[in-house]
Amino acid sequence: MTRVAEHDLAHRFATRSVHAGYVGDPLSGAVMAPIYQTSTYIQEGLGRHKGYEYARTRNPTREALERNVAALEGGLHGFAFGSGLAALDAVMKLLSAGDHVVSGENVYGGSHRQMTHIWARLGLTFTFVDGGDTAAVAAAVTPNTRIVYAETPTNPMMRLCDLKATGEIARKAKALFVVDNTFATPYFQQPLQFGADIVLHSTTKYLNGHSDMVGGMLVTTRDDLAERLGFIQNSSGAVPGPFDCWLALRGTKTLALRMRQHDANGRRVAEWLEQHPRVQRIYYPGLRSHPQHELASRQMKGFGGMISIELGDTAFARRFVERTRIFALAESLGGVESLIGHPASMTHASVPPEMRRRMGLTDSLVRLSVGIEDVEDLIGDLDQALADD
Ligand SMILES: *Cc1c(COP(=O)(O)O)cnc(C)c1O
Repeated sequence: MTRVAEHDLAHRFATRSVHAGYVGDPLSGAVMAPIYQTSTYIQEGLGRHKGYEYARTRNPTREALERNVAALEGGLHGFAFGSGLAALDAVMKLLSAGDHVVSGENVYGGSHRQMTHIWARLGLTFTFVDGGDTAAVAAAVTPNTRIVYAETPTNPMMRLCDLKATGEIARKAKALFVVDNTFATPYFQQPLQFGADIVLHSTTKYLNGHSDMVGGMLVTTRDDLAERLGFIQNSSGAVPGPFDCWLALRGTKTLALRMRQHDANGRRVAEWLEQHPRVQRIYYPGLRSHPQHELASRQMKGFGGMISIELGDTAFARRFVERTRIFALAESLGGVESLIGHPASMTHASVPPEMRRRMGLTDSLVRLSVGIEDVEDLIGDLDQALADD
């Protein structure tokens, strides 16, 4: 079980990003964590080894990443997985058949699919509610509730969940409060400070930030949960390879720099879109017009680069996403490059149409992941793509 060292938590965010979790390679003094591309380790004799026996259980490159991300979230234990959904899979394995989960309804489409198509079949029960409606979350809790699961801001509607209030509901119910912090990243929001027991990430997105690997992470401060999650990580075995861990670790070193630029660009693009005549509605928590802007300012330090817009016309939305030249039409988000997507047919196609309608995810909704390019070029690109012929 990897544990963050005291000195890793002594420093501020950008310093942690660069340094936390790694003190130099004991063999060579390598400044950067080496890629330990090995499946096993030589033992000096029976029962005599350096603590590393087999790479599903422990790998030094993976441990460097686990300590780094754990320190960024202000946690003590990190667990890396082969994807964000593999991390969710490990969380759900803390439960047993008959246990109940209250989840935000507007969670990542793949998370919803795993819960309803895999875990529900294996005996867990779920109630999906608007995670932004604290009263609805409280009302959904039953004596069997073991997890309250939240994503904030949500994808793609950018709805917020009140972390403090929801954490209190979970605590009263003696349920675990699990927060998917993929969108905000620890640079802007640290759910453990608001009472979360476990923070989940798709490292594929902002933490890696370069769209060149797929991975997931869990972070906790609780030793008892770390014990159980470590057991599940090793027993189920959905671990990432050392090279992907190394890529994610290279990404987190620049997280502070990148998030500042995503945020600056995101705000400029959001303000520009808000006044555009073809944009009917815009969803970005950094805008004063966002219905939860006050809550956003309370629990987030910045708002990042994710923006959704309602164009009110499906044909026009399809034309728009196919006409951008810098914004690439692609799933995923959080990389240095700008991406554009059509959630109803791409990332959220697995969410039942009725549920999509209920949360406002229409066929004319477009989602932007604003990258770190020159913002004037990004606005120029959106301008030409939104123009009438
Ligand atoms: C992408 C994503 C996931 C799933 O992560 P993968 O790495 O694709 O498995 C979970 N939650 C959110 C918010 C995401 O954006």
